[in-house]
Formats: sequence, C-alpha cells, structure tokens
Amino acid sequence: MPYRIHAAESVPHAASREALAERLRACLPADGLLADAELLRPYECDGLTMARQMPWLVALPETVEQVAAVLCSCSEFGVPVVARGAGTGLSGGALPLENGVLLSLARLNRILELDTLNRTARVQPGVRNLAISETAAPHGLYYAPDPSSQIACSIGGNVAENAGGVHCLKYGLTVHNVIEVTMLTMEGECVTLGGRGLDGPGYDLLALVCGSEGLLGVVVEVVVRLLPKPPVARTLLAAFASIEAAGAAVARIISAGLIPAGLEFMDNAIIRAAEDFIQAGYPIEAAAILLCELDGTAEQVAADLERAEGLLRDGGATEVRRSSGEAERLKFWAGRKSAFPAVGRIAADYYCMDGTIPRRKLADVLQRIAALSAEFGLAVANVFHAGDGNLHPLILFDASQPGEQDRAESLGARILECCIEAGGTVTGEHGVGVEKINQMCVQFSVAELAQFHAIKRAFDPAGLLNPGKAIPSLARCAEFGALHVHHGQLPHPQLERF
Ligand SMILES: Cc1cc2nc3c(=O)[nH]c(=O)nc-3n(C[C@H](O)[C@H](O)[C@H](O)COP(=O)(O)OP(=O)(O)OC[C@H]3O[C@@H](n4cnc5c(N)ncnc54)[C@H](O)[C@@H]3O)c2cc1C
Repeated sequence: MPYRIHAAESVPHAASREALAERLRACLPADGLLADAELLRPYECDGLTMARQMPWLVALPETVEQVAAVLCSCSEFGVPVVARGAGTGLSGGALPLENGVLLSLARLNRILELDTLNRTARVQPGVRNLAISETAAPHGLYYAPDPSSQIACSIGGNVAENAGGVHCLKYGLTVHNVIEVTMLTMEGECVTLGGRGLDGPGYDLLALVCGSEGLLGVVVEVVVRLLPKPPVARTLLAAFASIEAAGAAVARIISAGLIPAGLEFMDNAIIRAAEDFIQAGYPIEAAAILLCELDGTAEQVAADLERAEGLLRDGGATEVRRSSGEAERLKFWAGRKSAFPAVGRIAADYYCMDGTIPRRKLADVLQRIAALSAEFGLAVANVFHAGDGNLHPLILFDASQPGEQDRAESLGARILECCIEAGGTVTGEHGVGVEKINQMCVQFSVAELAQFHAIKRAFDPAGLLNPGKAIPSLARCAEFGALHVHHGQLPHPQLERF
C-alpha cells in the first residue's frame, strides 16, 4: 500500500468564514486575526514541510480570556481548531485545516513566576523552552528537557508532544518535569491538572495530556520543575569501526547500571556533515561515534568517567576522548546539536523519522535500516538519542527528482514498521501528527484505537480540537489496509466506525 503524508481529515461544517471572522475580530486585538492569503501563508505547515495546507483563519490572542473567546466562538460555529506553538513540530501536528482556525499561542509568552524556593517556574504556553533555563540560570537552576529545537520551540508545544532531548535519559521527558498544566477545553472551560504536591488523588490526567498533541485541550499555563545545575559535567567521545559495535556499546553501558546525562549516536554520514559544518573535532574516519555525558559532583563524575571509558573500550571503541574542559565539551555537543542543519548542506532534502526501539535491538535495527536504504536507493544518515533507543534516521532525497519524495515517504513508513516489529513504537518524541497516523493502525488494535477515541470524546465531544491527527479513524485504518478483515468479517463490528 503506497504511503502518503495526507492533509488531516477535517470536520465538515457549513459555517460562514465571514461571520466567524467578524465574531473573532470582536474578541481579539486589532491585529489578532489573519485572513488574507499572504498573511496565512507562513502558517501553512510546521517543521514537516512535506505536508502543507493553508488555514481558513489564524487567531493570535494575547490573553487567556481571548483564547477562551476564540474557542467558545469556534465551538458555537462548529469550526475545528488547531493549536500552534512555534511550529517546529516534525509530524504535522500543527498542520492547519482548510476549514479550520489555526490558534497561535505565540503571543502568550511571559514567564509568570520563578519560585526558587520550590524550584518551579510558572509560564505561559508560548514561552520558548530555552528561555526558561536562561531565566533560571542566575539562580543556579535550569529546566532539564532540552529538545534540539529548544532555542525556538514553545513549552505548550513541548507539553503537547511530550518532548524529549539529549538529557532526558537521566532527567526524564516533559511529562516528568511538568507538575501542573492549565488548559482550556474546546468549550472554553478552564481545567487545571496536576498540582504542586508530590502526588495527588485520582487519575493522572496530567500525564494523559502530556503528549496528547493538542487533541484534548489548549494549554494556557504550565508549571515546570527546575533542577539545580550539576556542578560538573564531562563528555566522552568514543569512536567505533562499525555501527553495530557502537549500538552494542549503548546496551552495555545501560545494562551496567550507568545512567549518563546524555548518550548520543552519530553515524559516519552525520560525523562528516557535522565536522564540515561546525569543526567539532570529530574523527571523520569512524563508522560511528557515541557522545556520553556524565554529570554530578566532581567525585561522582570522576568515578563514572572511569567506568564508562572502560565499558566503551571493552565494547570495541577504537578511540575514547574525554572533554578536556568546558570549551571542548560544548564543542562536542555543538556538532550533535547542529547535525540536522549540517545534513541540510549535503542533501537537497531530508526527511527525519522518529521511532523508538528496545536498546538491545539497536544494532539489529540499524542493520535493517541500512538494508532498507539500499532497497529504496536512498541514503539514510543516523543521529539519535541512543540511550533512550530513540532513532532519528534522516532519509536523504531530492524532491525535484520525480518519485523521490514518494520513495522517501515509503522508506520512512517501512522504517517505522521495522521499529514496531522490533518491539518498539512509531514515535519517540516527535509525535504522530499526520505523519505517522497510518502506522498507528499497525501498532494498535481496533479495540485500543476505540479506547483512544473514547478518551478524546470525553474531553472534546464534538471532535473539533485538532481532528484527523494522532489517532486514526477506524475507516482510515481499513483504507490503509491495516485493519484485518477475515472472510469479510469486520473485527469488533459493534464498535462505531469514525
Ligand atoms: C531542528 C529540530 C530539532 C528537533 N529536536 C527535537 C528533539 O530533540 N526532541 C523533541 O522532542 N522534539 C524535537 N523537535 C520537534 C519539535 O521541536 C517538538 O515537537 C516541540 O515540542 C514542538 O514545539 P512547538 O512549540 O514548535 O509546537 P508546534 O509545532 O507548534 O505544535 C506541535 C503540536 O503541539 C500542539 N500544540 C502546540 N501548542 C499547544 C498548546 N498550547 N496547547 C495544546 N496543543 C498545543 C499542536 O497542535 C501540535 O499538535 C525538533 C524540531 C526541529 C525542527
């Protein structure tokens, strides 16, 4: 079955664009509603630029009350809404709908409170991830989840995607570092989930909302946990003669009980691209390198460095370097953090996949990806959060060549399915959006998908918040061919087909 990144399936309605625009203008600032084509154009896609759709209207509220008014109006008109943070998402989660309002949270960008005593920050959803750490830095504190896009991405988008990053192996994902979220339902009702206490009674709805991709509510305020900056951090750079050896070394480190602050993998294509771009001092002949960061007190780091270096050498590393000081440590990481733009210099286009596999399967799955790359005739470069088993194969292609984009999308789909076969999942941190929605049909059964839809209905009965994303309709799965119909007998016929 050919795989295509589709526009999201929207919700049909008969509302008048002019009437809704007039209503929204009345509740937004003078420049808070965009309706002209040239003003809508910048919002036609997020970081998944292969999927594009011009929005019907774009709303730019500045206060929570204005967000509520937009939601209430759209709810009344029966018009769907897509929330958008910074638009750096890589799975088309913020892809607009042709008949829907794109609700930008970018102007709600204030840090409301820094509580150094309780080590928390209360922030609006449009605040950039890095801005939280920058604000907390004078107090020796920082916000741990650090997506590579942290200079731009918003905390609202991080909550919606349950974003991860280099340091999430040791310090957890967004869900582990957020303690309270205030969101508005599609009807404009304000709900606060979680709380300042360590544990609360009832279901953990905060965890449910983290990673819900804007389907359950619009996040308008977030309380994040801040951590004291570790006094010492040192990074090891280990080179390997094969990607399999590097993959196996990752499993070795974790099984030995060491939890590095970061454990990142780069293959030869990435090493060379990053080295050309940023001159990080990488060994360009290596088949793969691992960056292994250890942090804590000076004594702890010294002991961990010894252990990690021993494990890497025993695991076949041809060279292990310790960062000599802070400047070299940052240089090692500069190469990793610039890997995506560096690849942009060696390929006309690239397509970043995001699947997670059990760490012990790393070497096997990397081999399988190499075989698929040869089968599809498209190069694949690998750079990823190895400690989490979170792969980011970058498929290199040239969209100007007929058929190459289709081939890249098909290869991406096969890689995701390979992650599922290895016991993994179709996403590690970039979310499902529209990109991986077909593979959700492969990963989850009809009954499981029906439960997901039931949760969605409990929060958003009219199905107006970001419809067509993240959770496939059963009809879509049937069309995709992943719904197994045996001798014409539909599984679970009693379940509603959405
Ligand atoms: C170069 C690059 C590197 C990246 N590296 C990483 C990485 O290391 N780790 C990682 O996890 N991700 C990474 N990403 C992906 C992306 O940055 C994250 O998914 C990020 O969390 C998206 O935030 P955003 O503000 O841009 O959200 P958007 O792209 O605007 O939206 C993403 C999703 O969140 C929803 N949403 C946004 N704001 C709200 C809100 N206030 N309430 C409800 N729903 C909302 C949207 O509807 C959409 O479904 C990377 C992206 C790029 C371009």
